[in-house]
Amino acid sequence: MRYVSTRGQAPVLGFADVLLAGLARDGGLYVPESWPRLPEPQVLAGLRQQGYAEVAAAVMAPFVSGDIDDETFTRICREAYAEFRHPAVVPLVQIDSTQWVQELFHGPTLAFKDVALQLVGRLFDHVLGKRNEHVTIVGATSGDTGPAAIDGVKGCEHVDIVILYPAGRTSEVQRRQMTTVQAPNVHAIAVDGTFDDCQDLVKAMFNDVAFRERMNLSAINSINWARVMAQVVYYVTASHALSGPVAFSVPTGNFGNVLAGWIAQRMGAPISRFMVASNTNDILTRFITAGDMSARDVVATISPSMDIQVSSNFERLLFEMNDRDGAVTAEQLQRFRTTGSLRVEPDQRSQWIEGNFSAFASDDTATLAEIARVYRETSMLLDPHTAIGTAAARLITTGEQVVTLGTAHPAKFPDAVERATGVRPALPAHLADLMSRPERLRSVPCDLVAVQRLVSEVARIRS
Ligand SMILES: *Cc1c(COP(=O)(O)O)cnc(C)c1O
Repeated sequence: MRYVSTRGQAPVLGFADVLLAGLARDGGLYVPESWPRLPEPQVLAGLRQQGYAEVAAAVMAPFVSGDIDDETFTRICREAYAEFRHPAVVPLVQIDSTQWVQELFHGPTLAFKDVALQLVGRLFDHVLGKRNEHVTIVGATSGDTGPAAIDGVKGCEHVDIVILYPAGRTSEVQRRQMTTVQAPNVHAIAVDGTFDDCQDLVKAMFNDVAFRERMNLSAINSINWARVMAQVVYYVTASHALSGPVAFSVPTGNFGNVLAGWIAQRMGAPISRFMVASNTNDILTRFITAGDMSARDVVATISPSMDIQVSSNFERLLFEMNDRDGAVTAEQLQRFRTTGSLRVEPDQRSQWIEGNFSAFASDDTATLAEIARVYRETSMLLDPHTAIGTAAARLITTGEQVVTLGTAHPAKFPDAVERATGVRPALPAHLADLMSRPERLRSVPCDLVAVQRLVSEVARIRS
């Protein structure tokens, strides 16, 4: 499989190069040159009996072809999904006659990001090992991505990872999920600043070309194609398990998860439509319901992993809406950056958005009420992100089957869950002693030179 950039000016690459590159050189995002078809339904049914990893390997095989052989790829998928603490990996739980929650949070760090990052960490190590190369992944986190990225690469021989987090501004569970990992290639760094400061420091390190090349910097943020690819699989298993057609309600931030669903639909999965669920940061809701894509300031909510104003993965859908014209896409995004507002033509909206995407936004009060309602009716505790999804599903549905993606375990956001239900969710057994594990971290001031010095020190320990 070959990959092209959404802005049309970067070299066409194979899977392994796209994996390591992350962002394309023209600032665009990589997408496959063409969309493959899913295996036939009978073939998928047979694979489903063998387990999630076998379906995953078959669904993703066309995306890695030419770079990773089938046998190796199947082994990597099996290893990645063996880390999940549920035999179904991503089980479907029914909450009323036509509604389900697909629990994507049985991975090591209790957020759906594990589904992608357990695989992507292993793919990095495989590709780098074959090339005899080593990279230093640097990233910033406000809470969920850092732990999942660290856990995904903690066993890797060819990767160091440095995660910057804002000191005192993550939850204690989130911090400890990063600082209690004892692997020598893992470095959690507390920055005296905000999440935006951490992101700016990461950007500045990438923009320092000499430093970037010396350290062989790499990123596994949510625009990495391999992360999107891994998320296609659970849409396929859920829609087939329910024999389609199925609508999906997706708690949304960067649009990566919705985009993966759109790709599954494009590949032939029996999916009727998508419900895009947002919190008060509702740029996508405004775009889908009224055609208005204009950025506003980010507001802090009880669903912090969706506190995003510009949904970077939307660019991949925009590229399709422009009939894969990179120049038009690049120009549209340039205008968005300068004016803060994105326009698409009415016929593009009717062809691509209307009928296939609906949207809903929930403020914190409504989210807490939804957690309380689902608990009252089913005894299930939902985290605030998932609850925004079930609220959207209930309000938008016209009676069809709907699967809401359960993006985080309730114990990851215990304060909100307790506020809504009076019940404090317990951490699962594999994390029960998290609060007593020894922490290992370094602290730095919010200063590029200091951070770069620290990154070169920790990366040198291994090289
Ligand atoms: C990251 C995250 C989201 C948002 O996912 P996107 O792919 O950015 O849309 C939603 N819920 C939780 C719990 C997350 O960690």
